Amino acid sequence: MAFCDYHIHTCYSFDGDRSATPEAICKAAIERGLTDIAITDHFEVNAIPEGIDTPYDADAAFESVMQVKEIYGKRLNITYGIELGQASQYPDIANDFLRKYPVEFVLASLHNLRGKPDFYYMNFSAIDEDETSSLYRAYLSELLEMIYALDKIDAIGHITYPFRYIARAGRVVDASQFYDGLADIFSVLAKNDIALELNVSTYAKGYGFTMPTPDILSLYRECGGRLITLGTDAHSPSAVGVAIPYAAELAKSVGFDSALVIRGGQKELIKL
Ligand SMILES: [Zn+2]
Ligand SMILES: [Zn+2]
Repeated sequence: MAFCDYHIHTCYSFDGDRSATPEAICKAAIERGLTDIAITDHFEVNAIPEGIDTPYDADAAFESVMQVKEIYGKRLNITYGIELGQASQYPDIANDFLRKYPVEFVLASLHNLRGKPDFYYMNFSAIDEDETSSLYRAYLSELLEMIYALDKIDAIGHITYPFRYIARAGRVVDASQFYDGLADIFSVLAKNDIALELNVSTYAKGYGFTMPTPDILSLYRECGGRLITLGTDAHSPSAVGVAIPYAAELAKSVGFDSALVIRGGQKELIKL
């Protein structure tokens, strides 16, 4: 049984709970019996050039993760990661960051399309079906751009992120209309040994589905995808590791038998 959580925010993320110090996160992970975690604070690369208030103190965050590695490293495999947002939009900023810090795990995410607000701020009650589909198609095409733009990328985060906000408006997405676009991305991931994240935050929050859903996870497998990571997207200590056993069972049900982790700087597969 895998007990890994590879998507965790601390108080160094703009939306992280103030109680989520790296130390509190590690303590929570140990209490819940996890063996491997990645601390993946937000670095939204469009924040500085566009004056968006999502500050990330990279130096302080780095120091803090190094400290917890010292303190808890014998009881917990702690990976220094980053959730790199919108790298497609400012690839130089993203790649400069990756040159400056010895990031062990790059989780690449897209929270907003170029020139548009974060999907979190979109009201899908007021956006019709056609526009919704075209937004998600644009999302997939920008994701593909992002994969090629980054010098280092280990996993793609919450590939169906917009679905959470579509569901918030009480709407159900027919994902099959996007299988072609998803398959294009999955082939690239498979060819380049980039993992797909199975993110359980929506499930844990009561939406009833994971990001992505099992049909999409199956499609990834059909396209040759073998590497997955499991993540809660915790923003507080209480959310660390929650629903990871569910994610592991779900992944197994569609044919995956391991999850990707990084130990001592090396990629390893641990059995689900
Ligand atoms: Zn995210
Ligand atoms: Zn996140």
